[in-house]
Amino acid sequence: MLSAVADAKREGKRDDVDTVFASHYVQVCLPKFHMPRSETPKEVAYQVIHDELLLDGNPRLNLASFVTTWMEPEFDKLILEAINKNYIDMDTYPISTELQDRCVNMVARLLNAPIKDGEPAVGAGCIGSSEAIMLAGLAFKRKWQNKRKSQGLPWDKPNMVTGANVQVCWEKFARYFEVELREVKLREGYYIMDPEKAVQMVDENTICVAGILGSTYNGEFEDIKLLNDLLLEQNARTGWDTPIHVDGASGGFIAPFICPDLEWDFRLPLVKSINVSGHKYGLVYAGVGWVVWRSKADLPEELIFHVNYLGTDQPTFTLNFSKGASHLIAQYYQFIRLGHNGYKRVMQNCRENALYLRDAVDATGHFHILSKREGVPLLAFSLKDRCQFDEYDVADNLKRFGWILPAYTMAPGAEHITLLRAVVREDFSRTLADRLVRDIIRTIEYLKDRAAKSTSQFTPPVPRNQVPCEDNVKRIGEEFVRRLRLKAAASRSQGVC
Ligand SMILES: *Cc1c(COP(=O)(O)O)cnc(C)c1O
Repeated sequence: MLSAVADAKREGKRDDVDTVFASHYVQVCLPKFHMPRSETPKEVAYQVIHDELLLDGNPRLNLASFVTTWMEPEFDKLILEAINKNYIDMDTYPISTELQDRCVNMVARLLNAPIKDGEPAVGAGCIGSSEAIMLAGLAFKRKWQNKRKSQGLPWDKPNMVTGANVQVCWEKFARYFEVELREVKLREGYYIMDPEKAVQMVDENTICVAGILGSTYNGEFEDIKLLNDLLLEQNARTGWDTPIHVDGASGGFIAPFICPDLEWDFRLPLVKSINVSGHKYGLVYAGVGWVVWRSKADLPEELIFHVNYLGTDQPTFTLNFSKGASHLIAQYYQFIRLGHNGYKRVMQNCRENALYLRDAVDATGHFHILSKREGVPLLAFSLKDRCQFDEYDVADNLKRFGWILPAYTMAPGAEHITLLRAVVREDFSRTLADRLVRDIIRTIEYLKDRAAKSTSQFTPPVPRNQVPCEDNVKRIGEEFVRRLRLKAAASRSQGVC
C-alpha cells in the first residue's frame, strides 16, 4: 500500500531533493515486496537505508562473534580500490590471484606443512571456513571412494567422526554431501571431543575424523595430538588409513603465535588438511577463509576444474565461481602489515584481556567459568544460581548497556547447560573489558532486585530452558493458582464469565 503511494508520489511530483528530510520521500516507507516502478534519488536511497540500518546492533560491541570488526583505515582504501575486481577473472587480475597464492603459501607454512623452500603449497582462498570445510570434506570423501573402488569394496556408506560440539557447517557438509556424521557426545564438565571415544567410532567407512582447534562453544582446544597417536595405533592394527582434518576456524591463527609448542597441525602425520577463517583471528572483515592440504596427494586431481572462459586455463577448486577479490587482498595486507610479531602481540593482548575478564567475572562469585585459560580468547560462563533468573535474562539485560552477548545451550550430551559467551577480539581493549565487568555486576544486581520485587508483586521469572529449581516451580504454581482465583473473583463481581 505504502509503496504504491510512494510510486504515485514519485511519478507525480519529483521534487528537487535538495534536502532529503524536506522532500516528500520521508513521508513514505521504502517498498518491501515489489521493486518500485521508478528510480529513487541517490541521496534519498542512501539516507533512508543508512538510517534504517542504524537499528542493527553495533558490530564492535557484538561479543557473540569471532568475526573481525575492526581494521586499519588504510585497509578501507585498499578494499575500495579492489571492490570491482572479480576473483575468478584470474587472467585479467593476475596480481590479485598471485596475492591469494602468496597467502596460501604463508598459511601452509604457518601450519607447518612439509613443503620445501620455494615449493607452492596446495590450498585455496574461500569465502570462509564453511566453504573451506566443504572442500576438505569432499577431498576426503573422494579419496576414500577411490580407494574403496580400487579394492572392489562398497563405497556408498561414508561416515565421518566429530565431537558433538562441531560447528553447524560440519552438519551441513554431512547433509549436503551425504556423509553420515558420527558425533561423540559431550558430558558435564567435558565439552570437547574425547579422542578415545572418537577412535572407537571409526570404522572402514570413515573418511576422516575432524578435530577442532577452538571449540565454538567454549573455545577449548581439542587434543589433536592424542587423537593422532590413537588413530596411528588403530590404523596400524586394522590396516585402515583414517586421516584427520583440523577445523582451525578460530584457533588456527592463534595457536601458531602463542602456543607454538602445541602440536596440532601438519607436524602430526595424520593431519591431511586444515581450515582457518581469515575473517576471525586472521583479522580480516567477513568474507575470507583458507583450506590447505598437507600435499598434492591429499587433494584428488579430479576435484580441480580447469576453465578457460576468461582467458587462459585456470585451475579452480571452489564451490562458487565469481566473488570479490578484495578480501583476499586484505589478508595479504594483514600478513605484510603485522608479520609474525604483530600477530603474536595481537593474540597476546587478546589472551591477556580474556584472562582479565575471566578473573573479574569469576570474582563476582555468581558464575561458573566454562572456558579454559588456554584456547580461543573468550569467556564462557554460566550462572551458579538460576532460581530467580537465567542466562537469557542476563543477556537480555546486558543489551541495555549496548553489549551483545549470546546465551545458548551446550551441544548434545551437555545440552542441559546454558552458557553466556564473550569473545575477546583484537578491538576489545582492557577499558572495554573493565566496563563489561561492571555492567555484568549491575545487571545481576538489577535482576536480583527485580526478582525480589516480583515475588511480592507477582511476575515470577520462568527459567526458559533448563529444569527450573523446585522452589521456583512451587512458587510459580502457587502464584498461578492465586492469580486464577483473583481473576475468577474479579469476573464474578463484574458479571462476566
Ligand atoms: C566459525 C567457525 C566455523 C565456520 O566458519 P565461517 O568462517 O564462519 O564459515 C567452523 N568451525 C568453527 C570451529 C568455527 O568457529
